[in-house]
Amino acid sequence: MTRHETAFADLEAAFPGRIERGEAVRAQHGAGDSWHPAALPDAVFMARTTEEVAQAVKLCAAHGCPIVPFGAGSCIEGQVNATQGGLCIDLSQMAKLLRVSPEDMDCTVQTGLTRQALNEELRATGLFLPIDIGAHATLGGMASTRASGTMTVRHGTMADLVMGLTVVLPDGQIVRTGGRARKSSSGYDLTHLFIGAEGTLGIITELTLRLTGIPEASKAGLYSFPSIEAATQTVVEALQFGLCLNRIELMDALQVKAINAYNKTELPEQPTLLVDLAGSEQQVDTDRDTFDELASENGAELHPVATPEDYSKVWALRHSALYAARGLRPGCKSLSTDVCVPVSELPRILAETSADLDAEGIIAPMHGHVGDGNFHLVMLFDEEDAAEKARVQAAHGRLVERAIALGGTATGEHGVGLGKKSYLEAEHGAGLELMKVLKRAVDPANLMNPGKIFDL
Ligand SMILES: Cc1cc2nc3c(=O)[nH]c(=O)nc-3n(C[C@H](O)[C@H](O)[C@H](O)COP(=O)(O)OP(=O)(O)OC[C@H]3O[C@@H](n4cnc5c(N)ncnc54)[C@H](O)[C@@H]3O)c2cc1C
Repeated sequence: MTRHETAFADLEAAFPGRIERGEAVRAQHGAGDSWHPAALPDAVFMARTTEEVAQAVKLCAAHGCPIVPFGAGSCIEGQVNATQGGLCIDLSQMAKLLRVSPEDMDCTVQTGLTRQALNEELRATGLFLPIDIGAHATLGGMASTRASGTMTVRHGTMADLVMGLTVVLPDGQIVRTGGRARKSSSGYDLTHLFIGAEGTLGIITELTLRLTGIPEASKAGLYSFPSIEAATQTVVEALQFGLCLNRIELMDALQVKAINAYNKTELPEQPTLLVDLAGSEQQVDTDRDTFDELASENGAELHPVATPEDYSKVWALRHSALYAARGLRPGCKSLSTDVCVPVSELPRILAETSADLDAEGIIAPMHGHVGDGNFHLVMLFDEEDAAEKARVQAAHGRLVERAIALGGTATGEHGVGLGKKSYLEAEHGAGLELMKVLKRAVDPANLMNPGKIFDL
């Protein structure tokens, strides 16, 4: 028996046989892909329509039962952990492409569709959603964490690609924000209020998304550098030249070593840039020559990526980075974190962080979307070793403080969840209080994903 039995009795009456209470289902929904201890919801409901979400939310609201929205559960900062119990509303079955307009280059989807499934469905139209994250995540979850990824350097984040939303508010009301017009000056920008809100203000059930054309040509290159500084200098120069960069990803020598071990490859174990240029054939060829020159001047060794198979393999290697990093110390926990700074500050923060980690003896491979100034560390530690865990947490804190001091942010794309809550005041100052005012106005009973982003 839990505190919320009356809510679950009403939910069971409304959705007979669909309120899951079993341990296994609750465990699947009580944690994302993070080092934070799991916290199981008391029950799970797999919603199928916006109206069902609204009805379930109304019943929870009537009984003061917390609600945790759940997409694919790939979040990294403990966002789906039900630290106050309650009902988890799983949206993964709401996975339809509702409409596409090739002329306007937009589409409307249900929230549980993954970006991979969407791009598969769009293939025949010559359009795609230009956001490439390393996980199988739902579009609603991605909007809720303001996700981005390898293509952000060119196409922006989820915040740039979402044009409108359907949202169920904490009292069960359904609202539609934004729309299909390419611009609007009509009132407050409610769409962006929900993007990055991590399910604390409402449940997104539909999204209207801006699409882009599949480029005529894409070519990749892999470059090994003598140092991180040389690699980041090349990134800064390539951005200043305005090359048609589609992705530009950095890995340090330890991350490359981890990828070699995990994928049985033999890449040179040096700081490495993976670069993808996209556009017309001619533009791509010209810009790749320019990039090759810039990289050579900074001491890089070039490894051509010639065939489409090599191209896919290179990006598959990059997407294995997190699991490869974890493979360096099997059985250990990993504190995966991301920060983002102005691109020009990358050399400094990477040098200072590397010195800090070396001094502490912490194993932490680094990879990142350096075209945006965003990088990730996978800090490995033995859960049983309290001293090592404390050292890792302290080094993590110093990393985040360093990023904020350099004009950056505590998280470029993973979000706040439980893991970054304590840094928001330093980053936002009085803005944090304004966030709380908004939360209280929209969700006065604090039922939507309570305890995430900040405590009230
Ligand atoms: C291997 C790996 C690689 C990754 N790579 C990247 C990357 O490159 N870029 C990046 O940005 N992230 C990355 N992530 C993190 C993760 O994939 C993203 O945070 C993703 O956006 C989460 O989507 P999800 O569907 O899994 O959401 P969930 O994990 O289920 O939920 C995330 C948050 O959104 C809320 N939420 C979910 N659905 C809704 C909804 N419909 N309405 C309101 N709130 C909702 C939840 O309550 C929670 O707060 C990676 C994770 C892994 C494990």
